[in-house]
Amino acid sequence: MFDLDLHLHSTASDGTLSPSQLVNKCAENGLKVVALTDHDTLDGIDEAIVQANKLGTIEVIPGIEVSCSWNGIEVHMLGLFTRQDNVRLSEYCNRARKNRLSRSKKIVEGLQQIGIEITFEKVINLAGNAVIGRPHIAKALVEAGYVKYPKEAFDLYLGSSHSSYYPSSTISPIEAIELLVDSNALPVLAHPMRSKVKSGRNPINDLSRLVSELKPIGLQGIEVYYGDYTDKQIDKLSLIAQDNDLIECGGSDFHNSGNPGEPQPGTVGPPMENLHKLKDRLK
Ligand code: AMP
Ligand code: MN
Ligand code: MN
Ligand code: MN
Repeated sequence: MFDLDLHLHSTASDGTLSPSQLVNKCAENGLKVVALTDHDTLDGIDEAIVQANKLGTIEVIPGIEVSCSWNGIEVHMLGLFTRQDNVRLSEYCNRARKNRLSRSKKIVEGLQQIGIEITFEKVINLAGNAVIGRPHIAKALVEAGYVKYPKEAFDLYLGSSHSSYYPSSTISPIEAIELLVDSNALPVLAHPMRSKVKSGRNPINDLSRLVSELKPIGLQGIEVYYGDYTDKQIDKLSLIAQDNDLIECGGSDFHNSGNPGEPQPGTVGPPMENLHKLKDRLK
C-alpha cells in the first residue's frame, strides 16, 4: 500500500462517500497524505480537512479536477493546493455547476427520446448537493434496472460516442492552467492514457504535443501512477515527465462507484518524495 494518493472524489461531485467518510477510509487504508480532487468544485474540501484534523494521522491537500476539451476530446486537469478564496476559480466553479445541470437535462432528454424511462427529477435527487455529472444519471439507470452497475451505463448509454452525449466542458486545458496558476495551484495533467478499469475513454492522441504546449503555460505535473496503468504505460509516462521537467503524480481516482475492479485508495500512487517536489514548486 502507498502513503500518498493525489486523486480522489467525494459526494461534492460524483463520488459516493462524503468527504469525511472518504478521509476515514483513506486513513484506514494507511494513507498519510491525500488530495481531494472533485470535478469542477471545491465544496468538499473544508469537511475533508476538518475530518483529517480530527483523526490526526492524515493530511488533506485541497484540489480540484477541471474538465476541459482539446481538439474534440475530453481532457482533465487536476489542480493541487488550490485556494478556496480565489475569485476566478470560484466563478469558474459556479459556472460549471450551472452548465452541468443544463447539460444533464439534455442528456436525460436524449435518453427519454430513445425510450429510457428515467426522469430528470430522479437524477437531481440522486445528485443532492453535488456538482452533477453522468455518474448520477448512471445511478438512475442502475436503479431503474437498465444496467447492473454504472460502468455498464457508460458502455451502453452515456459514453461520448452515444447519441445523447453532450460534453460538460467549456474551457481548454490552457485556460484551465491559467485559472489554476491564478489561484496558486499546481496544474497536473490527469490520466493521459487509456485505462480499462476506469473510464475506458480514448487516450490523448499526440500527448507529447499537448504536454509541450502546456508546459510553458504552467503545467507542473502529469499522472504517471494511475488506476490500472501497466508498467509499459508507466514507463512511457515517466519518460514524458522527465523530458518536460514534470513531477510524476497519480492516485486511485477512487469514486466508490460500485464498478467491479475499482482501484481502492492507497493501492496506487506516487512515492512520497514527489510530494516534497510538488511543495517545492509552490509559490
Ligand atoms: P462527466 O464529468 O459528467 O462527463 O462524467 C464523467 C465521470 O463519469 C468520470 O469522472 C468518471 O467518474 C465517470 N466515467 C466516465 N466514463 C466512465 C466509464 N466508461 N465507466 C464508468 N465511469 C465512467
Ligand atoms: Mn468522476
Ligand atoms: Mn478524470
Ligand atoms: Mn477523477
